[in-house]
Amino acid sequence: MDDLKYGTRNKRGDWAPNGHQELPPYWAWPPKFLAVLKWLPEYIWPWNAFHIATALLYWRFVIPDVATMRTVSWGWALWLYAVNAAAIFLMYGSIELFYYVKRKQGTRFKYNGKFPAENPSDVFWFKSQNIDNFLRSFLISIPLWTLVEVLFLWVFANGWVPWLSWAQNPWYLAALVFFAPMIHEVHFFLIHRAMHWPPIYRWVHSVHHNSVNPSPWSSLSMHPVEAFLYHAVAFWHLVIPSNPIIALFQLHIAGFGAVNGHIGFDKLEITEDTPVDTHAYLHYLHHKYFEVNYGGDGLIPLDKWFGSWHDGSKEGDAQMQARFEKKKARMNAKRGAGA
Ligand SMILES: [Zn+2]
Ligand SMILES: [Zn+2]
Repeated sequence: MDDLKYGTRNKRGDWAPNGHQELPPYWAWPPKFLAVLKWLPEYIWPWNAFHIATALLYWRFVIPDVATMRTVSWGWALWLYAVNAAAIFLMYGSIELFYYVKRKQGTRFKYNGKFPAENPSDVFWFKSQNIDNFLRSFLISIPLWTLVEVLFLWVFANGWVPWLSWAQNPWYLAALVFFAPMIHEVHFFLIHRAMHWPPIYRWVHSVHHNSVNPSPWSSLSMHPVEAFLYHAVAFWHLVIPSNPIIALFQLHIAGFGAVNGHIGFDKLEITEDTPVDTHAYLHYLHHKYFEVNYGGDGLIPLDKWFGSWHDGSKEGDAQMQARFEKKKARMNAKRGAGA
């Protein structure tokens, strides 16, 4: 595919999409009903449909029976870890293999013209972003993902929170499935914004930000505190009356869905003319500029409301620069007053 029909490439070889990221059409005023109808399929397909499918497959084939889950034990915890690790290895690994190792699409639709393997850096374990990110994912983040999973399954299995049945609450539970990606966005924005507070940033979140040019393995490369808080989004289903399958879906939006922001390409060419949108650009801008786009695609547009939204356009850039200038002036004034 010709990526220059969809965007532009600068002298450094970095590609940027044309146009800008719009908020989902239900935020439009006056309401645009047709646009909302058109938006619905892309909200569900392919990514959320994938997370629903994996949640159902887990429920059917992976999650132990309720009697087993009443007691926490290494047996089923390790089994869940093994499946999570194998699934991430397959999913993230195949994107990494085809697009970063074999480079089947070259740098078409690639935001950063360089590949992480070309830039060894001291900030990483073994000076390699790939090895560092890979090890952190499998030794830190996936174990903590599994810990969250074990905890909420154990609580559900013991009947300590409501376990609503699909037969009796079909509409309520369907609505909860529908809103789960929005719960994800709010949870992620809040913990992420908090982790950008300088003392916590240096201690925790800087680990994730070492990858300025993220690749799939960067997605779950986190400090343990971040890895736990990030997956703890599933605990919302212990607070609101829910069902463990939806909690599992919520967990998969976090665990499997983390890759979306870190694919590094705007579109993956599955075949010559079937591209899949990755929804990676806003989070790519977050890795590039740090202080924009703490949330996601704006399902609940907290970035817009708090003034940190960068929609990928020239105007978005200008707004960000103006904000940075203001911040600098504030800091200088403070320093002047202190002297
Ligand atoms: Zn990230
Ligand atoms: Zn961040």
